[in-house]
Amino acid sequence: MTKPIIYADHAATTALSPRAFEAMRPFLSDEYANPSTLYRAARIPRRAVASARERIAAALGASPEEIRFTSCGTEADNWALKGVAFRHPGRGRRIIVSAIEHHAVLNTCAFLGRMGYEIVRLPVDAKGLVAPGVLESALTEDTVLVSVMYANNEIGTIEPVGELAAVARRRGVPFHTDAVQAVGHIPVNVRELGVDMLSASAHKFNGPKGAGFLYVREGFEIEPLLHGGGQEFGSRAGTENVAGIVGMAEALSEHVETLERDARKLETLRACLLARLEASGVRFLVNGAERRIPGSLSLSFYGADGEAILHRLDLMGIAVATGSACNSRETVLSHVLQAIGVPAGYARGSVRITLGIGNDEAQVLRIADCLVKIVSA
Ligand code: PLP
Repeated sequence: MTKPIIYADHAATTALSPRAFEAMRPFLSDEYANPSTLYRAARIPRRAVASARERIAAALGASPEEIRFTSCGTEADNWALKGVAFRHPGRGRRIIVSAIEHHAVLNTCAFLGRMGYEIVRLPVDAKGLVAPGVLESALTEDTVLVSVMYANNEIGTIEPVGELAAVARRRGVPFHTDAVQAVGHIPVNVRELGVDMLSASAHKFNGPKGAGFLYVREGFEIEPLLHGGGQEFGSRAGTENVAGIVGMAEALSEHVETLERDARKLETLRACLLARLEASGVRFLVNGAERRIPGSLSLSFYGADGEAILHRLDLMGIAVATGSACNSRETVLSHVLQAIGVPAGYARGSVRITLGIGNDEAQVLRIADCLVKIVSA
């Protein structure tokens, strides 16, 4: 890519870690045997996949058989929702999700809606939180699944997933969480959470693109999404992406080792950026809850245009995201900003800054100074 001088869009994707790259290298060259074959050359790739499964399971407090490899977070989300819907057709028709899910969940729901499911989108409060009581009152006898994300990709809000899963469990309803933004960034333990399924994606924690996984609790049955060979315990056909799986396990182990130290660094950088903005006197709001993904900062500038800010920052060598996009006639706000009700006057001027461990203080101060320059012009 044309490299931005300052990359601050880590919720979109991250760079492959050198450790993950080195771990992958043999499987991109000499160790290319298909893990399912019977000759000796397959032993090393087969063991590598098994060991990656064990490492990922250990990082999440799961057992290895509960980790099913997928091609990305989107596939894991699709599989969780369709896998439940297709497993028990006719058992019930209601699927409950939050209003601020990623499109990987929302558009899967739109598809299931066309197949006759009733999709209920739970409202969130101004910080993006789903209240357990709101979920409780939406549950009906014919609810087949609840899916609420662990952490939101636009505003970083961490949902009370453990409490929400407990509400669903008391009513005997399966619970899935899209943890694509959480895994590798905050401690995640599937047993403590009490979820039935959890999605993750390697490229969000410095692993390779094209690798993800779905945790499926032992004893919980879902229908395969891909039919074919017997890979992934017969639940997801397709020759394994050995290098991707190995790189994902390495990157996750690396993140888990340094998770607390990294979180402290990212929060310090975030505070530094915010302090600089506050000192400037520009009018802005900070979106999201106090419990959020470290280093994530969603801002709405009064009277500004998020897309214009993004392009101006890009010209200054800074990569961030926005929560609003202009079409030919009007500015369209993201469903997340709409759901949290960012006040008129601010909403259009929203940007998302997601810091990573490669950022430093000089960079975040430059981001703040450039933002002030743009929105004050
Ligand atoms: N879910 C969330 C919350 C995300 O942020 C993303 C990606 O941005 C996805 C799902 C999709 O993941 P992938 O890009 O691996 O398909």
